[in-house]
Amino acid sequence: MSLLIVGSVALDNILTPTDRQDNVLGGAGTYFSYAASFFTPVQLSGVVGDDFPPEHLQMLRNRNVDIRGVEIRKGEKTFRWTGRYLENMNDRETLETQLNVLGQEPPKLPQAFTNAKYVFLGNAPPSVQMKTLDQLQGADLVAADTMNLWIDVEREPLLELLQRIDGLVLNDSEAKMLTGELNLVTAAKKILEMGLRFVVVKKGEHGSLFLSEHEMYLVPAFPTETVVDPTGAGDSFAGGMMGYLAASGTTSAEAIRTGIVYGTLIASSTVGGFGLDRLAELTKERLDEKLERFRKMVAF
Ligand code: AMP
Repeated sequence: MSLLIVGSVALDNILTPTDRQDNVLGGAGTYFSYAASFFTPVQLSGVVGDDFPPEHLQMLRNRNVDIRGVEIRKGEKTFRWTGRYLENMNDRETLETQLNVLGQEPPKLPQAFTNAKYVFLGNAPPSVQMKTLDQLQGADLVAADTMNLWIDVEREPLLELLQRIDGLVLNDSEAKMLTGELNLVTAAKKILEMGLRFVVVKKGEHGSLFLSEHEMYLVPAFPTETVVDPTGAGDSFAGGMMGYLAASGTTSAEAIRTGIVYGTLIASSTVGGFGLDRLAELTKERLDEKLERFRKMVAF
């Protein structure tokens, strides 16, 4: 089944306590589509400037990512984000955001993308995410990401968005901020009641919490010693989850659970290198071996 991601395509500068890398290919749309492409072809919608290295787009094409939805704006610059990770490699601060093309009119979906069955709305202002929803025809499952900034400055549009989509994937601090609750279970329940079918709360190195009307469960993170750059972990988690669902062609509770496990495993590779470095070494065979190791780790 067709899978569409609408998300940022970026050039990142990443600082860690021991290293720095500039001009790293990043963005929610990039990480998501790369992760999802382990399972299924992906349609990517985003926008870059004409400073964007063409080899990055070719790399995505080689992964079976349909980039007809990536608009290249002449005379404009690509979105740039600079972030620094703290000593614990979990918390980060944004040092600089150059919105560039992301601050302009969002790209329109190509006609061929409007009937996608599985859709993920990457982090963007909820008012923009809703413009994407308006262009869709008959999706089976729509999930979205958000961030603290939009909870703060676009709360009403965000609440409207939640009534119109099926699932929300967000991190623990955002869940607490959205609800004002300190207890994560209570926070997830309140978010579910905002009009969703399911909520996934990500807890970084501590895994994730899933909640729907009928189910609640935890998925631990895959234990990883090497954390080089956590950027994109959340987006590759979502990409793995949605990619698996789209490939399986169902939105059953069981498929969502397996999708979350795949997302967890892919994210644990993402953090092992800068940008897509470590993900590029992962194969479907290695991923499935990891799945079997994970199964043994969590069985009792
Ligand atoms: P994650 O680590 O999963 O939260 O994703 C990080 C990616 O999100 C980086 O590659 C950034 O380029 C991108 N990003 C950061 N801030 C924004 C923003 N305001 N809008 C869209 N994408 C962003």
